[in-house]
Amino acid sequence: MTTPMVKAEGVHKSFGAAHILKGIDLEVAPREVFCLIGPSGSGKSTFLRCINHLEKINAGRLSVDGELVGYRQKGDKLYEMKDSEVALQRRDIGMVFQRFNLFPHMTALENVMEAPIQVKGEAKAVARARAEKLLDRVGLGDKAKNYPTQLSGGQQQRVAIARALAMEPKLMLFDEPTSALDPELVGDVLDVMRGLAEDGMTMVVVTHEMGFAREVGDALVFMDDGVVVESGHPRDVLTNPQHDRTKSFLSKVL
Ligand code: ADP
Ligand code: MG
Repeated sequence: MTTPMVKAEGVHKSFGAAHILKGIDLEVAPREVFCLIGPSGSGKSTFLRCINHLEKINAGRLSVDGELVGYRQKGDKLYEMKDSEVALQRRDIGMVFQRFNLFPHMTALENVMEAPIQVKGEAKAVARARAEKLLDRVGLGDKAKNYPTQLSGGQQQRVAIARALAMEPKLMLFDEPTSALDPELVGDVLDVMRGLAEDGMTMVVVTHEMGFAREVGDALVFMDDGVVVESGHPRDVLTNPQHDRTKSFLSKVL
């Protein structure tokens, strides 16, 4: 059996007294486009942040590519990883947020070059060559010298995707990557994500773009109030939801 790229077993997360993730079980296979939908506040972002070790889970097991996130197992005991080990784990995971968070004082090209140079100590020429290719790939080869303020929201988001790809991640997490964009700019970003999917990138995508989920997604989970309510192939869940909560949510967004 192939190792799942993400495996969550009984994952719980609380912030103080607020119990947010209440036992999440799911598996993302390598090369899969895994879509996560659900009402605002249901815990989607929190779950993505746990995968990327931006939040620590309180109970359960969460692994990426067969490795526990943030823990080493010796025998039947778990040891918390040192920060340096966590950093190594996180290098392999790219994340794209609703807000693009580009470095404002750097050009598009410099934004994409930055992490490999700073984090991996890569030679500048190597980082530059890759960054140029990646900007081409997201359709922005001619904007390399532009600063973020000289780019549209959709272009900035595509630079953010190129920046995440520059670390050559094995998993990409997208947290509502098109929600902050004007409607006419959404398509270009979704096209880039579609291309990534075609190239075999494993992706976990939190989105309200049901068209994308249906056309590109291999699996879809509907989450509500910190639990997985329903999961399956996007076509099945979207056209034939089984649970009232799923039906009610879809009637509002479709
Ligand atoms: P979604 O992405 O599905 O809209 P979130 O994961 O962002 O949901 O949030 C789920 C719940 O967790 C919300 O009620 C939110 O207020 C709460 N929450 C998220 N992050 C924190 C935090 N750092 N501290 C306290 N509460 C948080
Ligand atoms: Mg969110």
